[in-house]
This record gives sequence, structure tokens and C-alpha cells, in this order.
Amino acid sequence: MLDADDLRAAIRDVSDFPQPGIVFKDITPILGNAELFQTAIRLLAETAHGKDISKVVGIDARGFIFAAAVADRLKCGFVPIRKKGKLPWTTKEEAYSLEYGEAVVEIHQDSVSPGENILLVDDLLATGGTAAAAVRLLDQLEANIVSVSFLIELSGLNGREKLNDHIITSILTY
Ligand code: AMP
Repeated sequence: MLDADDLRAAIRDVSDFPQPGIVFKDITPILGNAELFQTAIRLLAETAHGKDISKVVGIDARGFIFAAAVADRLKCGFVPIRKKGKLPWTTKEEAYSLEYGEAVVEIHQDSVSPGENILLVDDLLATGGTAAAAVRLLDQLEANIVSVSFLIELSGLNGREKLNDHIITSILTY
């Protein structure tokens, strides 16, 4: 059975993408390999082991790939958090800072019920701004965030500090 080391070996570092100075973690070699993809989903699903999750929430866009498959594995529903303007129904929204300017994410206001047990999933934790905005959205809906799970964590950027009160698990730390 493959493990996290196999995932680490498959991730491709792409320098200066999408802009100079960024080392982009390209996860497409994992997605394109059935065994590696299954391993990633199994390990992410295991972060919720023993927890009574009713919905998995994924963050636009790479988070969807993992969160939807984890939801299927956990026999849960899937809920998308999308960039502003993509969701058709009534939404809650939260703004967060990017290196230049601001971004806004949204969730359907009826997608999660108060007190519902949620697993939040994204591909990568960098500065934590995106995940913190997602957490604030779920807080608006009074969700019970049981755990926040990432495939990759760039620990030098201290994103964890923005998610203070939550249980955070990452499969691969750099
Ligand atoms: P942040 O809000 O800084 O934690 O950024 C997290 C989001 O940006 C994640 O959803 C990632 O998809 C993307 N991201 C940030 N930095 C990288 C990186 N070095 N490689 C790949 N994706 C990244």
C-alpha cells in the first residue's frame, strides 16, 4: 500500500509560478495516478477517523477535487465554498486579503445546518487566509467544524495561527 512518502515524491515543485518567487506545489501528478490519488483520499479521509462527520466542505478550486472524493469515501454530503459570483442561490460571504488586493468567498446559506458536523478540506495551507475565510463562513452558518484537513502544509508561513481554535491535520508538511 502506498503512503505519504509516495505522495511527497510525486509532488512537483514549479518555481516562479504563478509569479516570481513562488514555488508552486503541483499536485496534478497525484491526481493522474490512480494509486496515488486513492492514497491521498484515503489519508485525508483518515483524518476524520472516529468523528461523526455529516458533510465535507471543499474550497474552490483544487480543494473540490479532494473534498468531493473524501465525501464519497465517508458517505457524506459535499458542500462547495466558491469564489464570489459562482453560486446561484442566496449566499453568505467573507472577504480575505491576498498579496495584492482582496478576494471574496461564498457559501450557500442553506448548505449546512446549525450544529452540523463538518470536515473542511483544501489542497494546501499557505498563509491561511483562504482557510480562515472558509472557517468564518462556516461560523456564520453555526456549523460545528470538527476538523480542518490539508494535503499539504507550508509550515514556514504559519497559516495554522489563523485557524487557532481548530484541529488541523496535514498529510505532508514542508
Ligand atoms: P493561503 O490563503 O495563503 O493559505 O493559500 C491557500 C490557497 O492558495 C490554497 O487553496 C492553494 O490552492 C493555493 N496556494 C498557495 N500557495 C501555493 C503554493 N505554493 N503551491 C500551490 N498552491 C498554493
